[in-house]
Amino acid sequence: MTNSAPQANNYRKLALVTSGQLSSDGAGVKLTRLIGNSELSMLDPFLLLDVFQSDKPQDYSGGFPSHPHRGFETVTYMLAGRMRHKDNAGNEGVISANGVQWMTAGRGIIHSEMPEQESGLLKGFQLWVNLPKKHKMTTPHYQEFAADKITVEKRSDGGEIRVISGSTNNNATGAVVNNYVKPTYLHVTLPANASFEQNIAKADNTFIYMISGHLCIGDSTEKLDKNQLGILTEGTSVKVVTNTATSFLLVSAMPLNEPLARSGPFVMNSKAEIIQAYSDLQNNRF
Ligand code: MN
Repeated sequence: MTNSAPQANNYRKLALVTSGQLSSDGAGVKLTRLIGNSELSMLDPFLLLDVFQSDKPQDYSGGFPSHPHRGFETVTYMLAGRMRHKDNAGNEGVISANGVQWMTAGRGIIHSEMPEQESGLLKGFQLWVNLPKKHKMTTPHYQEFAADKITVEKRSDGGEIRVISGSTNNNATGAVVNNYVKPTYLHVTLPANASFEQNIAKADNTFIYMISGHLCIGDSTEKLDKNQLGILTEGTSVKVVTNTATSFLLVSAMPLNEPLARSGPFVMNSKAEIIQAYSDLQNNRF
């Protein structure tokens, strides 16, 4: 080895590609469950990823009426339409395209998530981020950022990176403050024939969800197409190359590697803690 030996790149590759499973949740909201289904139960620390996308009011008008959560965080990111969050800690707000609601359920919160529209396209994502064992019972917290409060890194090729959380390679940093799991959550839009790189901690679990277009991962010809979720191998950097205009989410975080017990809206570390959650809910301790 000499000092001038070229450094081998360590680009992540595609480990798994999925289109998720059609499902419904809340009061009949039609959605595609990409993570948290029978095929892919989780991608530690990500417990669930839903995409909802419809211009038919009957697919979304029921929304997600009042329901509890304990033990993790819910992240709603909108692409079209409007969504109202309201919880029993006194937080309330409406976001529209490119806005984010980041709720830390912690020891327990009861909230509703309702479409603020009677017609038109509703499109967005909900991601569940697990909390570390020692912070599962933290005080509930809510952060909301409208599109104009989201950091946008403009690229010289006309592309842009919306930084919801974490930082880009050029140190554009998202507004969301994360004290527990600190995910990188980027919404990247690129023109055709562009290349994009993002440094990632080697042990992170990382996925890309394709909103539009298609792209190649790393230096390979492995392709990811519209509406597909690609889970990436271990590595210190993500590189994508486009030959069409594309838009995608890049989300990454360090796995917790802790025991998991989940039941509906509660995600804890043991069965006993799940039973306690139901008991606390019934006894108005949320
Ligand atoms: Mn919820």
